[in-house]
Amino acid sequence: MRLRQAYDVVVVGGGTAGVFAGIAAARTGAKTLLVEQYGSLGGVLTLGMSLKGVNDGEGRKALGGIGEELIARVRRMDGATEVVDHPRHGSIMGQDPEAIKLTLIQMVQESGLDLLLHTYLVDALTDRGAIQGIRVANKAGLEIIPAKCFVDCTGDADLAAQAGASFVHGREGDGLVQPVSAIFRVGGVDLDKTWEYLEHHPEDFETPPGADSDEYSVAKFRAKPGVGVAGFRSLIRQAREAGEYDIPREDMGFNPMPGRQEVTINITRVHGIDGTNPDDLTRAEIETQLQVLQGMRFLRKYVPGFARSYVVSSPFQVGIRETRHVQGEYVLTAEDVMAGRDFPDQVARGAYPLDIHDVGRNVPPEGSVEGGGTDLSKITRSYGIPARCLIANGTANLVVAGRPISATHAAAGSARGQPVCMATGHAAGVIAALSVAQRRPLQLLDVVEAQSVLRAQNAVIERT
Ligand SMILES: Cc1cc2nc3c(=O)[nH]c(=O)nc-3n(C[C@H](O)[C@H](O)[C@H](O)COP(=O)(O)OP(=O)(O)OC[C@H]3O[C@@H](n4cnc5c(N)ncnc54)[C@H](O)[C@@H]3O)c2cc1C
Repeated sequence: MRLRQAYDVVVVGGGTAGVFAGIAAARTGAKTLLVEQYGSLGGVLTLGMSLKGVNDGEGRKALGGIGEELIARVRRMDGATEVVDHPRHGSIMGQDPEAIKLTLIQMVQESGLDLLLHTYLVDALTDRGAIQGIRVANKAGLEIIPAKCFVDCTGDADLAAQAGASFVHGREGDGLVQPVSAIFRVGGVDLDKTWEYLEHHPEDFETPPGADSDEYSVAKFRAKPGVGVAGFRSLIRQAREAGEYDIPREDMGFNPMPGRQEVTINITRVHGIDGTNPDDLTRAEIETQLQVLQGMRFLRKYVPGFARSYVVSSPFQVGIRETRHVQGEYVLTAEDVMAGRDFPDQVARGAYPLDIHDVGRNVPPEGSVEGGGTDLSKITRSYGIPARCLIANGTANLVVAGRPISATHAAAGSARGQPVCMATGHAAGVIAALSVAQRRPLQLLDVVEAQSVLRAQNAVIERT
């Protein structure tokens, strides 16, 4: 087994949170390695879903720092729209996933961060509550990588679980998780036709109960760059009644990029998948990929503007919304999120909507063809994320960022949003680098110093 050189910080997982953690640790002076199982960076961020919650519902910035740098760079390549306000999501920004993916590699190269791609975390070598090294597998066989501090950005808290940190799986009490979906991109779409259809069919344009009908006009949505919609329920019902549709979801989300004939589609759904179980993951891949085929047949036949459309890309893997939540000294709650609560040790902010896809229909009621819905609540005031939510109990030198931070099932419905994962990634990288520089276990970290380094790196910690 090969022993690699020792690092100050090793970040595992080069996705939405991990790239930012790696760059932040390197910029903060730590000798840092980023380990990623695939050959490119960005994880779920590169599926093409619009970024919701870069600003909160009052139009105040919730994401700064390295995430904001990425957005500015891809915007210069015409790869991102402006951030515009949105009555349901607070704010929204359309993005081109290819521009993001390629820009991330460039930013990593510029940061001095070392990269190890095509390498999968196997387990952790621990001693007296601290991780001494990780064991990884790649084409060369097994390798050990020692480091002083580790950041888990695997999305599923794989390293935390291997290292014996505390976590819960799924929803408190019953362990149920949000369903999985394969996000795919479709080209050859005549969007004018789709918008025109929606103008004449308000029943297919999703308007939350009690919403201001002036805000929810198709014309207003259509005029804003990168604004997508959910809906198309009556068309889905028609296809079901014709026996041509059995995806367990009542609506479809579509995210257009202005000036292109391309749309990111969110329509597939499989319930009851444990994203840490390889057999479940295999079933999820098969079922969602078959649903992409069915979704395309539906789009071409039923949705105006899609008659000549085709799949531009199907995802590198099925999108997992929820698995493990690590348990830190503080567990973020839905009340904190909805109240826009601040904390003395906050190191990041969140404003992605509280977005919870129905967990409860793992087995649909007998005779039911309808799928589960989605609870979505706008975040009016962004909330703070305490450093305590990024430090897993049970290990001395493990920081966690992205989807599995210490949050309840409901709060994670917001903390899992792309801009929030970018922000917690940035914070986790700074925390890891400082704990090495300060030679202190994470539990004794000087949070005030971490906050001042983050501010100097333009991260948004306080409400601006
Ligand atoms: C279907 C779906 C729709 C969504 N829609 C939106 C939306 O519209 N807007 C929005 O803002 N957010 C949305 N989200 C939420 C958001 O995209 C994700 O929660 C977020 O991107 C997760 O970031 P992450 O860094 O935690 O995980 P990821 O981006 O998944 O990154 C994890 C990385 O770790 C790597 N990895 C995992 N395990 C290992 C291992 N053992 N060894 C080595 N590498 C490993 C992976 O390859 C990956 O690169 C959506 C999520 C899903 C699933």
